Amino acid sequence: MAKGCGMGCGVLFAGILATTTLTAQQPPPAPGGASTTPVHPKHGQQSPPTHAPHPDLPPADALAWSRLANDKAVQAQAAGRTAAAAPRPGGAGRYVVAVLACAELAADLPARMGLAPADILLLSAPGAFVSAEAIAELERAQREDRLSLCVVLTHDGCRNLAAGKATTPAQQAVERRGQPARELAARRNLSVDKAQALLQQQAILSASTQLSSAVTADTFRIVPARLDARSGAITWHTTRAEELPIPVVR
Ligand SMILES: [Zn+2]
Repeated sequence: MAKGCGMGCGVLFAGILATTTLTAQQPPPAPGGASTTPVHPKHGQQSPPTHAPHPDLPPADALAWSRLANDKAVQAQAAGRTAAAAPRPGGAGRYVVAVLACAELAADLPARMGLAPADILLLSAPGAFVSAEAIAELERAQREDRLSLCVVLTHDGCRNLAAGKATTPAQQAVERRGQPARELAARRNLSVDKAQALLQQQAILSASTQLSSAVTADTFRIVPARLDARSGAITWHTTRAEELPIPVVR
């Protein structure tokens, strides 16, 4: 057993396994092509099917869908075209993905992501700084609207994360708030935008027991990411475990 692979890994494993099983599972073929639902001679249909498809969109599938949509949008932009928005995946709730994005990205964000505006719960905030309001909205969407994915989207050249530019008290407050991201970036040799996305991901998880429990259960995921302002390409700061197509069995 590898070090550090405790309950979290087990839960993740189970989640991935459930996802894989769900994707691979087809309804069992009916013998002779007839309906397999047992019918009681007196009471008509006796029991509901036991293998009804799960109605939720697993976070891994929502992420794969978002990645593909952005890839297509980038390819279309490079070819001077506009990509059609990705069709809504099966199992999605009210929104397919929530995006906590810097306000500087908000104007054309759905097109750049390759998504229909109605599929995105867009939480726009300067610097992509998380707020109590944004967390409350995410909690509500996760609980009531079956949201399974939140992307924290920062970008290169973010003016809200720059240092030494503030001239008013409000700007100075924002500059102070960005200090942890600049420090983390310097300490770990990261870009400031990546450090900011990682910190805001952690801020959401530490502020919300509901969302962190959903992450543990692999029914919800928060993915830090960066939008390249010029190409529109998104770099997803996923962990190695999130990139694995199937769980590693030891
Ligand atoms: Zn920005």
